[in-house]
Amino acid sequence: MASSRNKENQQKYPRDKPWSLDDFEIGKPLGKGKFGRVYLAREKKSQYIVALKVIFKDQIEKYKLNNQLGREMEIQSKLNHPNVLRLFGWFHDAHHIYLILEYCHGGELYKLLSKIGHLSEHQAATYIASLTKALAYCHQKNVIHRDIKPENLLLDFEGRLKIADFGWSVQSTSKRKTMCGTLDYLAPEMVENRAHDYAVDNWTLGVLCYEFLYGAPPFEAENQIDTFKRIVAVDLSFPSTPPVSVEAKNLIRLLLVKDSSKRLSLQKILEHPWIVQNADPNGTCN
Ligand code: AMP
Repeated sequence: MASSRNKENQQKYPRDKPWSLDDFEIGKPLGKGKFGRVYLAREKKSQYIVALKVIFKDQIEKYKLNNQLGREMEIQSKLNHPNVLRLFGWFHDAHHIYLILEYCHGGELYKLLSKIGHLSEHQAATYIASLTKALAYCHQKNVIHRDIKPENLLLDFEGRLKIADFGWSVQSTSKRKTMCGTLDYLAPEMVENRAHDYAVDNWTLGVLCYEFLYGAPPFEAENQIDTFKRIVAVDLSFPSTPPVSVEAKNLIRLLLVKDSSKRLSLQKILEHPWIVQNADPNGTCN
C-alpha cells in the first residue's frame, strides 16, 4: 500500500519549481555523517517520505569538496535503478546543502552485518546479485563506483539493497576506526596506484561476498601496510567456520583475481550457479 503510493508519488519527481525547506515536514534524525545530518522528511504536497541529508557548507568548503560534491550529485541524480539510491533533487540556503534522497527504512547493511555477524548464503547471494545488477547499470552509464563497502549500502523496507554515496562521501565518515577509511575493499591495481577500470568493482564484489559470508573482509590485518601486502599478494584463505558452500568459495576465487582482465564479468556473476541457486529473484530478503 505504502509502496504503491510511493511509486505513484515518485512519478511527480522531478519538478520544475526549485525545492526549499518549506516543502518538507522534518521528522526524526536518521543518522549523522561528518558533514551533516540525515532526517526522515515528508514532502508536504505529495506526502512522499524521503531522507533529507543536510550538509554544512562550511565543512564542504573546509575540505575543498565543492566540485566533487557537485559532480557526484549530478551523477547520482541521473541514475534510476532499483538497487541504486535515488537522489530526487537538491537545494541550498546560506549555510546548508539539502539532498532529497530515497528513504531506506532498513538502514545500513553494515549495521545488520555487525549485529548478526555474518549473512546466510541466501541473503549474501541476493545482495551480491543486486549489487551486480546495480553495477552493470552504472558501468553502462560509464560510472565506476570505486567505493563500495557495507557502510555505503542501505536496505529499504523490503530488504532490497541500494548503493548509496557516489564517491563524494568517501571522506565523510570512517566508521571503522581506521585512520583514513579502509583499504580492505580496494583492488590490487588501486592500492598500487596503477591504472584501473571497471574491473575494480568486480574485485570489490568478491571482497563483499567473502565479508557477507564470513563477517570480515578477506585481507583484514592489524594495520594498513599489512592489508596492502595481503591484497597485492592476493593472500586469500577460507576459515572453517562458519561453513560456506564450495560454490560460494568458487565465485569468490573467480572475482579475487589479480589480473583484472581475468576477473569474472558481471554477466557471468549473475549466471554463476551459486547466485542462480541462492539469490532471491526479486532482490528482497527480510
Ligand atoms: P551519511 O552522512 O550518508 O553517512 O549518513 C548518516 C547516517 O544516516 C547513515 O549511517 C544512515 O544510517 C542514515 N542514512 C543516510 N541516508 C539514508 C537514507 N537514504 N535512508 C535512511 N537512512 C539514511
